[in-house]
Amino acid sequence: MTIRSKSIVAIVLTFTCILVTLFMICRFLLLNNLIAIETQNTRQDVERIEKTIGYITTNLAHATADWAYWDDTYNFIQNKDPSYIETNLVESTFTDLELNLILFIDKDGIAVYSKAFDLDLKKEIQVPSEVWTQISEGNTLIKSASSTSETSGFLLVDGFPPILLVSLPILTSDDTGPSQGTLIFGRFFDAKNLDQLSNITSVSISLTTYKDFTSRNGYASINFSAKNENEIIIKPINDDTITGYTVIHDVYKNAGLVLGIELPRSIYHEGQKSITYILISISSVCVVFGLIAVIEAEKQGLSRLKRLANTVERIANSGKISGRISTVGKDEISSLGANINRMLASMQRSEDAISERAEHLQVAVVEAQLANQAKTEFLSGVSHELRTPLTAIIGMAQLLQKKYYGVLNEKQSEYVQDILESSSHLLSLINDVLDLAKIEAGKTKLEMDQYSIRELIGSSVLIVKENAVKKGLHLTVEIAEEILNQNVVVDKRRFRQIMINLMSNSIKFTEPGGKVVVTAAIKRGVLEVGIADTGIGISPEEQEKIFDAFYQVYSGTTGKSPGTGLGLSLAKRLVEQHDGKIWVESEGIGKGSCFSFTISLNLAKQVSEGSEKKALGE
Ligand code: ADP
Repeated sequence: MTIRSKSIVAIVLTFTCILVTLFMICRFLLLNNLIAIETQNTRQDVERIEKTIGYITTNLAHATADWAYWDDTYNFIQNKDPSYIETNLVESTFTDLELNLILFIDKDGIAVYSKAFDLDLKKEIQVPSEVWTQISEGNTLIKSASSTSETSGFLLVDGFPPILLVSLPILTSDDTGPSQGTLIFGRFFDAKNLDQLSNITSVSISLTTYKDFTSRNGYASINFSAKNENEIIIKPINDDTITGYTVIHDVYKNAGLVLGIELPRSIYHEGQKSITYILISISSVCVVFGLIAVIEAEKQGLSRLKRLANTVERIANSGKISGRISTVGKDEISSLGANINRMLASMQRSEDAISERAEHLQVAVVEAQLANQAKTEFLSGVSHELRTPLTAIIGMAQLLQKKYYGVLNEKQSEYVQDILESSSHLLSLINDVLDLAKIEAGKTKLEMDQYSIRELIGSSVLIVKENAVKKGLHLTVEIAEEILNQNVVVDKRRFRQIMINLMSNSIKFTEPGGKVVVTAAIKRGVLEVGIADTGIGISPEEQEKIFDAFYQVYSGTTGKSPGTGLGLSLAKRLVEQHDGKIWVESEGIGKGSCFSFTISLNLAKQVSEGSEKKALGE
């Protein structure tokens, strides 16, 4: 992902996070506050309607009081004069006072006069029989002789709307008693009244009996607590309407009716609308600022960074570190450019120094090659010059030893023997030095070919076997079964040289009666040859050094070995020429040693593939 895409993603993510956070704040803080206000308003409306009903009751109570505390009524209830009824209780009394029910009951509880009136049909109707039942059964509505208090509230009668009742004792006009009976005025609180109330308060109102309310399914989730009598329950029913309910007590102070109101959720809607507007405005602002941020980032940094990256890539691809980056301004990008330029300059300096050193090295290599060549030529010259007389010395000493020219006395034989041994030693030293010099000069070319492993090892062992037997050593060969018939690609002469050097050392450094075991096996995909002996062993410190040229371990008992100190060094180089490794393991002085070396088997494959190709005429 490019920095450009990353920056755009970061900006988009930032603004999205801002939007989501704002949405959350608006949704949960603002909207919840609005819902709280809406609930509060609905509660106030319920209270308002309750008060209005209270006010209507008070008005009815005033009208009732006008009639109950009046000498004419006082006299009528005593003397039952029909003229009182004829004069006062005319149709207009019901219509003016909006009364549906008037009951005059004397102090013995006997109805002196009763009348029910239908205000819509403008005609008398029968007083609901249940009204009589309730009046006679309860003692709330009938006033005693000493009573002066008022009873008001709703009376619930089956088959009729709730009746708003006011019951007062009948007193004289100056409010004195004793009470001669009870005057009850009632008003049917029907749909018309509710409509009127709704019009006055501008709220949709419903009045349901408590029994109906609690048994109706739609209100199942609304439960008034038994204790809190003035409880107001507010409940939004959907996104458009919120409802509020409260209990209105009947004349017996029981939960008689449930007043319900329904209000449109305008505050909630306005809130939602406002939140949507706010979010749209903020989103637009975010998009605009996001674009500005992207454009600015592009202008100030990203495009320059891209140019910088392109230039660096061009320089890297071309490999021309002489190229430079243009650095304008004083910000981090310019300083990065300047630093890259400094780095390029320092790289250039280093490259100059390296090429200067390479030139020197080239010269030195050529000189060294020449010197090496001179050394090799010198060595081969010298060795030739040395070997010719040395061969003559050896030949002549052998003639003397074989007594062709007469018998030698004991001393002469001893000296001739010394001459022979020293000359042979010198000859092998010269041969080893020459070999080493040739390898180091890279002049030894291996003559690789396929040979049977068994044959290679067997023929090498054969060469040293006699020496081992002479010394009284037990020399054995153990070749793993599976490679007995396998071939390996080596330079036969060099392979034997390695084997002979290692086996000769083992024979040389093992006391008579000891053992030398030659093993061969395939391990980890390579041929591994081991020459183990029960000889004098090698200390861990010496193990690291013995492969160095001319290094010989000094032994207190034997002194320097009678060898040249070049055998292992030569063996190591020859093994490495065969892509192999050589190493020694010994548990220490007197504990024997085991020299091992590996030969890659891949060489065999390469050679066999090569010969196959040759056979196919490629
Ligand atoms: P040298 O001609 O002295 O054998 P090499 O390079 O072959 O020279 O060996 C170096 C030295 O490593 C030897 O002088 C000897 O001390 C030690 N060494 C080599 N092979 C063995 C062995 N099988 N056991 C103990 N020491 C050995």
